[in-house]
Amino acid sequence: MVQRHDGRRIVVLVGPQGSGKGTQAEMLTEHLGVPVIATGELCRQEIAKKTLIGEQIASYVHQGKLVPDDIIQALLEQRLRQPDAARGCIFDGYPRTLEQARTLDTFAPPDIVIAIELSDRVAVERISGRVVCAACGAVYHHQNRPAQNHAVCDRCGGELIQRRDDQEEQALRKRLAIYREQVEPLAQYYSEQKVWQVIDGSPSIHLVHEAILGAITATAE
Ligand code: AMP
Repeated sequence: MVQRHDGRRIVVLVGPQGSGKGTQAEMLTEHLGVPVIATGELCRQEIAKKTLIGEQIASYVHQGKLVPDDIIQALLEQRLRQPDAARGCIFDGYPRTLEQARTLDTFAPPDIVIAIELSDRVAVERISGRVVCAACGAVYHHQNRPAQNHAVCDRCGGELIQRRDDQEEQALRKRLAIYREQVEPLAQYYSEQKVWQVIDGSPSIHLVHEAILGAITATAE
Protein backbone atom coordinates (compact mmCIF):
# COMPACT_ATOMS: atom_id res chain seq x y z
CA MET A 1 0.00 0.00 0.00
CA VAL A 2 1.39 3.38 -1.02
CA GLN A 3 1.64 5.86 1.87
CA ARG A 4 0.37 9.27 0.70
CA HIS A 5 -0.48 12.57 2.36
CA ASP A 6 2.61 13.06 4.51
CA GLY A 7 1.98 16.80 4.24
CA ARG A 8 3.88 17.21 0.98
CA ARG A 9 2.19 18.00 -2.31
CA ILE A 10 3.66 15.74 -5.00
CA VAL A 11 2.58 16.31 -8.59
CA VAL A 12 3.99 14.45 -11.59
CA LEU A 13 3.70 15.84 -15.12
CA VAL A 14 4.03 13.34 -17.95
CA GLY A 15 4.01 14.15 -21.65
CA PRO A 16 5.97 13.76 -24.87
CA GLN A 17 8.61 16.31 -25.81
CA GLY A 18 6.78 19.31 -27.23
CA SER A 19 3.65 18.80 -25.10
CA GLY A 20 4.34 21.99 -23.14
CA LYS A 21 5.11 19.99 -20.02
CA GLY A 22 8.02 22.23 -18.96
CA THR A 23 6.00 25.41 -19.47
CA GLN A 24 3.04 23.99 -17.55
CA ALA A 25 5.35 22.95 -14.72
CA GLU A 26 6.71 26.52 -14.49
CA MET A 27 3.16 27.90 -14.35
CA LEU A 28 2.12 25.39 -11.69
CA THR A 29 5.05 26.10 -9.42
CA GLU A 30 3.73 29.60 -8.75
CA HIS A 31 0.25 28.30 -8.07
CA LEU A 32 1.28 25.50 -5.68
CA GLY A 33 4.31 27.14 -4.07
CA VAL A 34 6.54 24.10 -4.58
CA PRO A 35 9.53 23.82 -6.94
CA VAL A 36 9.72 22.04 -10.26
CA ILE A 37 12.22 19.22 -10.30
CA ALA A 38 13.04 18.39 -13.91
CA THR A 39 15.41 15.46 -14.28
CA GLY A 40 16.39 16.60 -17.81
CA GLU A 41 17.47 19.93 -16.31
CA LEU A 42 19.37 18.18 -13.50
CA CYS A 43 21.17 16.16 -16.19
CA ARG A 44 22.04 19.28 -18.22
CA GLN A 45 23.33 21.05 -15.10
CA GLU A 46 25.58 18.11 -14.32
CA ILE A 47 26.84 18.04 -17.93
CA ALA A 48 27.59 21.77 -17.71
CA LYS A 49 29.71 21.19 -14.57
CA LYS A 50 31.94 18.94 -16.72
CA THR A 51 32.27 16.37 -13.92
CA LEU A 52 33.08 12.73 -14.64
CA ILE A 53 29.45 11.83 -13.97
CA GLY A 54 28.44 14.73 -16.25
CA GLU A 55 30.44 13.22 -19.10
CA GLN A 56 28.75 9.87 -18.55
CA ILE A 57 25.31 11.55 -18.56
CA ALA A 58 26.17 13.44 -21.75
CA SER A 59 26.84 10.22 -23.64
CA TYR A 60 23.22 9.12 -23.03
CA VAL A 61 21.49 12.49 -23.38
CA HIS A 62 23.18 13.33 -26.69
CA GLN A 63 22.01 10.03 -28.15
CA GLY A 64 18.45 10.58 -26.94
CA LYS A 65 18.75 7.61 -24.57
CA LEU A 66 17.56 7.36 -20.98
CA VAL A 67 20.24 7.91 -18.35
CA PRO A 68 20.64 4.87 -16.03
CA ASP A 69 18.38 4.84 -12.96
CA ASP A 70 21.16 4.90 -10.35
CA ILE A 71 22.53 8.16 -11.77
CA ILE A 72 19.06 9.77 -11.94
CA GLN A 73 18.33 8.61 -8.39
CA ALA A 74 21.54 10.18 -7.05
CA LEU A 75 20.73 13.51 -8.77
CA LEU A 76 17.18 13.43 -7.38
CA GLU A 77 18.21 12.64 -3.81
CA GLN A 78 20.62 15.55 -3.88
CA ARG A 79 17.92 17.89 -5.21
CA LEU A 80 15.23 16.76 -2.74
CA ARG A 81 17.50 17.57 0.18
CA GLN A 82 17.22 21.28 -0.70
CA PRO A 83 14.89 23.10 1.75
CA ASP A 84 12.59 24.43 -0.98
CA ALA A 85 11.37 20.85 -1.63
CA ALA A 86 10.26 20.25 1.98
CA ARG A 87 6.59 20.96 1.14
CA GLY A 88 6.60 18.92 -2.05
CA CYS A 89 7.47 19.39 -5.69
CA ILE A 90 6.36 19.03 -9.28
CA PHE A 91 8.28 16.33 -11.13
CA ASP A 92 8.88 17.02 -14.80
CA GLY A 93 10.41 14.20 -16.82
CA TYR A 94 10.37 11.74 -13.92
CA PRO A 95 9.33 8.95 -13.61
CA ARG A 96 9.74 7.78 -17.18
CA THR A 97 9.69 4.03 -16.49
CA LEU A 98 7.74 1.62 -14.31
CA GLU A 99 10.91 0.97 -12.35
CA GLN A 100 11.27 4.70 -11.63
CA ALA A 101 7.55 4.94 -10.67
CA ARG A 102 8.00 2.15 -8.14
CA THR A 103 11.10 3.83 -6.73
CA LEU A 104 9.25 7.17 -6.51
CA ASP A 105 6.53 5.51 -4.41
CA THR A 106 9.16 4.70 -1.77
CA PHE A 107 10.17 8.34 -1.18
CA ALA A 108 7.54 10.68 -2.68
CA PRO A 109 4.30 8.98 -3.82
CA PRO A 110 2.45 11.33 -6.18
CA ASP A 111 -0.96 12.77 -5.26
CA ILE A 112 -1.70 13.18 -8.95
CA VAL A 113 -0.02 12.24 -12.23
CA ILE A 114 -1.04 14.48 -15.10
CA ALA A 115 -0.49 13.09 -18.58
CA ILE A 116 -0.47 15.79 -21.26
CA GLU A 117 -1.51 14.09 -24.48
CA LEU A 118 -0.18 15.10 -27.93
CA SER A 119 0.29 13.35 -31.26
CA ASP A 120 3.85 12.74 -32.56
CA ARG A 121 3.11 14.90 -35.61
CA VAL A 122 2.22 17.95 -33.51
CA ALA A 123 5.11 17.24 -31.11
CA VAL A 124 7.68 17.29 -33.95
CA GLU A 125 6.11 20.43 -35.45
CA ARG A 126 6.30 22.25 -32.14
CA ILE A 127 9.81 21.17 -31.20
CA SER A 128 11.37 22.27 -34.47
CA GLY A 129 10.56 25.87 -33.48
CA ARG A 130 11.70 25.62 -29.88
CA VAL A 131 14.63 27.51 -28.34
CA VAL A 132 15.83 27.68 -24.74
CA CYS A 133 17.77 30.29 -22.78
CA ALA A 134 21.37 29.14 -22.31
CA ALA A 135 21.53 30.97 -18.97
CA CYS A 136 18.24 30.29 -17.13
CA GLY A 137 16.59 27.51 -19.15
CA ALA A 138 13.39 29.47 -20.03
CA VAL A 139 11.65 27.94 -23.06
CA TYR A 140 10.39 29.89 -26.11
CA HIS A 141 8.85 29.00 -29.45
CA HIS A 142 9.18 31.20 -32.48
CA GLN A 143 5.46 30.81 -33.25
CA ASN A 144 3.62 29.83 -30.08
CA ARG A 145 5.65 31.67 -27.45
CA PRO A 146 8.14 34.07 -29.03
CA ALA A 147 10.67 36.09 -27.03
CA GLN A 148 10.32 39.85 -27.48
CA ASN A 149 13.78 39.97 -29.04
CA HIS A 150 14.13 36.65 -30.83
CA ALA A 151 17.78 36.03 -29.84
CA VAL A 152 17.55 37.14 -26.20
CA CYS A 153 15.70 35.82 -23.11
CA ASP A 154 12.90 38.12 -21.82
CA ARG A 155 13.55 36.98 -18.27
CA CYS A 156 17.31 37.27 -17.85
CA GLY A 157 18.79 38.58 -21.11
CA GLY A 158 20.59 35.27 -21.79
CA GLU A 159 21.29 33.93 -25.28
CA LEU A 160 18.56 31.77 -26.86
CA ILE A 161 19.83 28.55 -28.40
CA GLN A 162 18.42 25.36 -29.89
CA ARG A 163 19.16 22.46 -27.58
CA ARG A 164 21.62 20.17 -29.32
CA ASP A 165 19.43 17.06 -29.03
CA ASP A 166 16.43 18.99 -30.41
CA GLN A 167 18.35 19.80 -33.57
CA GLU A 168 18.82 16.15 -34.31
CA GLU A 169 15.57 14.84 -35.69
CA GLN A 170 16.70 11.27 -35.39
CA ALA A 171 17.35 11.66 -31.67
CA LEU A 172 13.99 13.37 -31.31
CA ARG A 173 12.11 10.52 -33.04
CA LYS A 174 13.91 8.08 -30.79
CA ARG A 175 12.90 10.05 -27.72
CA LEU A 176 9.25 10.11 -28.83
CA ALA A 177 9.32 6.37 -29.49
CA ILE A 178 10.84 5.73 -26.05
CA TYR A 179 8.16 7.93 -24.53
CA ARG A 180 5.30 6.02 -26.23
CA GLU A 181 6.72 2.68 -25.17
CA GLN A 182 7.27 3.72 -21.60
CA VAL A 183 4.16 5.77 -20.92
CA GLU A 184 1.88 2.76 -21.38
CA PRO A 185 2.98 0.87 -18.25
CA LEU A 186 2.94 4.15 -16.30
CA ALA A 187 -0.65 4.78 -17.39
CA GLN A 188 -1.64 1.34 -16.17
CA TYR A 189 0.29 1.59 -12.91
CA TYR A 190 -1.06 5.01 -11.96
CA SER A 191 -4.59 4.26 -13.21
CA GLU A 192 -4.69 1.38 -10.76
CA GLN A 193 -3.68 3.82 -8.02
CA LYS A 194 -6.41 6.20 -9.27
CA VAL A 195 -4.02 9.15 -9.61
CA TRP A 196 -3.70 9.17 -13.45
CA GLN A 197 -5.36 12.16 -15.20
CA VAL A 198 -5.19 12.73 -18.97
CA ILE A 199 -5.22 16.32 -20.29
CA ASP A 200 -5.37 17.28 -23.98
CA GLY A 201 -2.16 19.20 -24.76
CA SER A 202 -3.19 20.57 -28.16
CA PRO A 203 -5.09 23.76 -27.07
CA SER A 204 -3.35 26.99 -26.00
CA ILE A 205 -0.90 27.10 -23.08
CA HIS A 206 -3.47 28.99 -21.02
CA LEU A 207 -6.31 26.50 -21.63
CA VAL A 208 -4.08 23.53 -20.84
CA HIS A 209 -3.01 25.28 -17.62
CA GLU A 210 -6.69 25.78 -16.63
CA ALA A 211 -7.45 22.13 -17.30
CA ILE A 212 -4.49 21.03 -15.16
CA LEU A 213 -5.53 23.31 -12.29
CA GLY A 214 -9.05 21.88 -12.51
CA ALA A 215 -7.71 18.33 -12.22
CA ILE A 216 -5.47 19.23 -9.25
CA THR A 217 -8.26 21.07 -7.43
CA ALA A 218 -10.60 18.10 -7.89
CA THR A 219 -7.95 15.80 -6.39
CA ALA A 220 -7.34 18.04 -3.37
CA GLU A 221 -11.05 18.13 -2.48
P1 AMP B 1 14.10 16.14 -21.02
O1 AMP B 1 14.63 17.52 -20.77
O2 AMP B 1 13.09 15.71 -19.99
O3 AMP B 1 13.64 15.94 -22.43
O4 AMP B 1 15.33 15.16 -20.81
C1 AMP B 1 16.49 15.23 -21.60
C2 AMP B 1 17.29 13.96 -21.46
O5 AMP B 1 17.70 13.78 -20.08
C3 AMP B 1 16.55 12.67 -21.79
O6 AMP B 1 16.51 12.42 -23.18
C4 AMP B 1 17.35 11.64 -21.02
O7 AMP B 1 18.57 11.37 -21.70
C5 AMP B 1 17.69 12.38 -19.74
N1 AMP B 1 16.63 12.15 -18.71
C6 AMP B 1 15.76 13.09 -18.20
N2 AMP B 1 14.93 12.56 -17.30
C7 AMP B 1 15.25 11.24 -17.21
C8 AMP B 1 14.74 10.14 -16.46
N3 AMP B 1 13.71 10.27 -15.61
N4 AMP B 1 15.32 8.93 -16.64
C9 AMP B 1 16.35 8.77 -17.48
N5 AMP B 1 16.87 9.75 -18.24
C10 AMP B 1 16.35 10.98 -18.11
